[in-house]
Amino acid sequence: MNDTVVISGGTRGIGAACALTFAAAGYRIALIGHTSEKSGRELVQNLNRQGTDAEVYFCDVSDYSAVQDISGQILQRFGRVDALVNNAGIAQIKLFTDLTESDWDHMMNVNAKGVFNCCRHFAPSMISRKKGTIINISSMWGIRGASCEVHYAASKAAVIGLTRSLALELAPSGIRVNAVAPGVIATEMNRGLEETTLRQLTDEIPAGYIGSPEEVAEAVLFLAEERSRYITGQILSVDGGYVV
Ligand code: NDP
Repeated sequence: MNDTVVISGGTRGIGAACALTFAAAGYRIALIGHTSEKSGRELVQNLNRQGTDAEVYFCDVSDYSAVQDISGQILQRFGRVDALVNNAGIAQIKLFTDLTESDWDHMMNVNAKGVFNCCRHFAPSMISRKKGTIINISSMWGIRGASCEVHYAASKAAVIGLTRSLALELAPSGIRVNAVAPGVIATEMNRGLEETTLRQLTDEIPAGYIGSPEEVAEAVLFLAEERSRYITGQILSVDGGYVV
């Protein structure tokens, strides 16, 4: 039976690109989305049409019990999970002095607790099989820090801490945990950025262009596959050289 990957935030953007990339590599696909029902279902239909066994589930990854419920459904439907891609995330640009308690809590709940929730509910079945890989999507801002995105950068730094620590704890069980830290990637997340900001960012990227979701997906697939078997606890930057 083909390997199964669970991709949170798989309804669009980087998550959807991961779904297509993993499908092309022969994986069965379980997507977790939140509000984009239409695009999630269309993506699954496309995958099914191409002969990929795929299903989409909807929940808020920050909800511990909801993720527990969905993980049970996925494990029952697919039998096992070989790779988990924790990609669901939100962003917000705001002056630090305008941030509210609920801005902070919401950011941390989705971007950091969401990763905890998915790892917490999918890792036990990997541990009992002594097989599995987890790839968390952090951000270059989680490494470098970001002005006017303090809560976002902090949540992504938390993902890096979680990744390194869980990698140490799960390595003896044969499970690898890594993160990808994308730079500026062309998705809806950046649609709100002004033209001048995007131009300025592009000028700062050594590679000279904004990355594509597919370029991130290729790195995620690499970390999921056997060819990266001796790599764990690492943060792989996919940012055109922005952070070196
Ligand atoms: P998008 O905004 O395009 O997509 C976000 C995805 O996350 C959607 O599928 C959305 O689901 C899902 N999501 C959001 N909130 C929740 C939630 N509470 N529960 C479940 N799913 C949720 O973002 P990108 O594809 O650009 O980003 C993907 C990841 O990559 C994020 O973690 C982001 O922080 C990170 N990243 C992105 C960069 C970029 O430049 N784009 C740079 C660095 C990191 P739905 O639509 O169904 O609600």
